[in-house]
Amino acid sequence: MPADVETMLRGPSAYAVARQAMDAMERYAVWPTALNFELWTHFVAAPESALGREIARLIQAGEPFTDNLSDELAATYLPKARLNDQIRDAGDALSKELASVSQAIHSAQKSSEAYGETLNHASRSLTDAQDPTALKATVETLSSATRRMARENKALEGRLADSTEEVSRLREHLEQVRRDATTDGLTNLANRKAFDDELERACSEADINGEALALAVIDIDHFKKFNDTWGHQTGDQVLRFVASVIGRMGAPPRFTARYGGEEFALIFPCESGTAAFAILEDIRKEVSSRMLKRRSTNDDLGAITVSAGLAERRPGEGAHALLERADEALYASKRAGRNRTTHATRTSEAA
Ligand code: GH3
Ligand code: MG
Ligand code: MG
Repeated sequence: MPADVETMLRGPSAYAVARQAMDAMERYAVWPTALNFELWTHFVAAPESALGREIARLIQAGEPFTDNLSDELAATYLPKARLNDQIRDAGDALSKELASVSQAIHSAQKSSEAYGETLNHASRSLTDAQDPTALKATVETLSSATRRMARENKALEGRLADSTEEVSRLREHLEQVRRDATTDGLTNLANRKAFDDELERACSEADINGEALALAVIDIDHFKKFNDTWGHQTGDQVLRFVASVIGRMGAPPRFTARYGGEEFALIFPCESGTAAFAILEDIRKEVSSRMLKRRSTNDDLGAITVSAGLAERRPGEGAHALLERADEALYASKRAGRNRTTHATRTSEAA
C-alpha cells in the first residue's frame, strides 16, 4: 500500500524502515539507487503488498536484481500511486471549476434581484411622478440598470462557455488517465488491476443472474529461452502478436487482459466450458501456425506455442479460488508437454 509506506516514511519508524531497506538491498546485492530504495522500502514496510510479495518471490527464486528488473517492477507496481495522484488532481480541478461556476451563478442571481428592485422602484416613481424631469431621471435609471444587466448577462454567458470547455477538457483528461490506469502499455489489453476488478465484478454478476462463467489463463511456452535467443525487443513483438490473437477472439462481452509478463487471462461471461475450450484451442492453433519473422532483420524466428488452462466457475465460488483452478489447469498443460489446453474437469474439481 504505497500511501501507508509514504506515511511510514514520515512517522516515528521512518529511519528504522529506511535502514532496513538499505540493509535488505545490501544483503541481496541491490544497488542503492533512488528507484531501488523506493522499491525496497515497500518490501520492508509492506511485505504483504503485491510488490512486497513479488520481491519476496524473486529473492526466493534467486533472480539477480538488475536495473531492468527494477524498471519492470516499478512499471508494474509503482505507477498506480502516481496515477491516483493524477486522478485526484483532475478531480480537484473539476471541483474548483464547479465551485467557481456556482459562485458566478449566485452573483448573477443577486444582480437579477437588484435589477428587479430597480424596476419595482421605477414603477412606483412612474405612478407618482408627473414632473417631466423626474420622469426623465427614472427612465435614465431604468435604461442604465438594463444596460448593466445586459453586460452582466453577457459576462456570465462567457464565463459559462469557458467553464463548459474547461469541464469537457478535464473530463477527457480524466478519461485518458482512467484508460492509462487500466491498460497494459505494451499490448493494449487490460492490465492486471483491471482484470482483477473485472473478475470480481463478473463473479458477482454471475451469482446475481445465476449464469455460467469460465476463466482461462494462457502462458507463452519457453518464453525465457526465446528472449535469451532473440532479445527482449523481439520478445515484446511476440507478446504483442499473441495479445492481438487473444484480443481478436476475446471481443466483448469476453474480457481479455495481460495478466503478468507473458501470461494472459480471458473471462468468458455466460459461456459454457465447452464453448470457451473451443475458443482457447482456436487461439492456441492460430498462435502456433504462424511462422514469425523478426521485423528488424527479417530473421525466421520459427513458431511459438502457448499453453492454456480453463476453469468453469462453481456457484458461489470467489474470484481467487477460480483463478487458482485455472492456474492449476495451466500447469497441467505445461507438465503434459505444453502447446495444449487443459480443462479443469468436474472430476478433478471433486478430487
Ligand atoms: P514455461 O513454458 O514454463 O512458461 O517457460 P517460460 O520460459 O515461458 O517461463 P518463465 O516463467 O521461466 O519465464 C518467463 C519469461 O518471460 C521471463 C522473461 O524473460 C519473459 N518476460 C516476461 N515479461 C516480459 C516482457 O514484458 N517482455 C519480454 N520480452 N519478455 C518478458
Ligand atoms: Mg511461459
Ligand atoms: Mg509465466
